[in-house]
Amino acid sequence: MRQTTIQNEVHCSGIGLHSGKEVSMSLHPAEADTGVIFRRLDVPGNRSEIPALFDHVVDTRLCTTLANDRGTSVSTVEHLMAALSGCQIDNVIVTISGSEVPIMDGSAGPFVSLIECAGIVELDSPRNIIQILHEVSVNEENGRATISPTDHQRSSLNINLNIDFENAAIGYQTFFINLSSWSFKQDICHARTFGFLEDVEALRQAGLAQGGSLDNAIVISENEILNKDGLRYDDEFVRHKVLDCIGDLYLAGKQIAGCFSGDRTGHGIHNKLLRCLFADREAWRLVPMDELTEIRAPHWNVESQRAIA
Ligand SMILES: [Zn+2]
Repeated sequence: MRQTTIQNEVHCSGIGLHSGKEVSMSLHPAEADTGVIFRRLDVPGNRSEIPALFDHVVDTRLCTTLANDRGTSVSTVEHLMAALSGCQIDNVIVTISGSEVPIMDGSAGPFVSLIECAGIVELDSPRNIIQILHEVSVNEENGRATISPTDHQRSSLNINLNIDFENAAIGYQTFFINLSSWSFKQDICHARTFGFLEDVEALRQAGLAQGGSLDNAIVISENEILNKDGLRYDDEFVRHKVLDCIGDLYLAGKQIAGCFSGDRTGHGIHNKLLRCLFADREAWRLVPMDELTEIRAPHWNVESQRAIA
């Protein structure tokens, strides 16, 4: 019910999926109400900080890119954001030596390990969360997303996501999760990003996917998975899309109490949904997490009494 940060500073390094450049990254403890802030070490101090917030998203093609109003950017933030959300870290400063978060193994697993190494501490401030009060939707030609209130004033986020690819190696997959630290670590965090070999040449010519390999992505050619060890879960593709969704939604700046439902969504739709949500002042409220739990108890009692009657 209280805000958290990490206990100790921790470091990792790796390459950027799109830049192909080696970067080092550290997570540092932060005070209550800091949120998540990226700090570029290769940029002068007065323009180095980029808040991890939905209204700082400047690009959603292939990955989520944040920038500050001085034009300093950091890209591929979504898997780290998913790990921070999944581990329920409210406050952290992320220092980084370049413009792209390292891709590691293509999942959020290495970031979860890093956070577990750092340890988690509670701070002496209540955790406020975003409670969804009425439904908000985004419908696009290629996908749609909805966020709606939970039943019974629950304080958690439910995600229900479908993907539908023509490629037979993926096809139609669906996944539901009631998000908690446990379910995130068990069911989502190890799912890797994926791509099609047929697209790699064009991406590389466009200066993207320079660091992509079988070490950090599932690669599909025609209907075959090229990674020799195969998949980590039978439905790893939809689980990774859920991971991306968790990371993108954490750019709300706080945990969300609500139900997300998505059909063939991506970073762009996730960001549009947050922008629509926050543009509608009646659709949400900020509430101390323990207040939701207090409301929940009598609500449940009323229901169970009805059930008995
Ligand atoms: Zn991803």
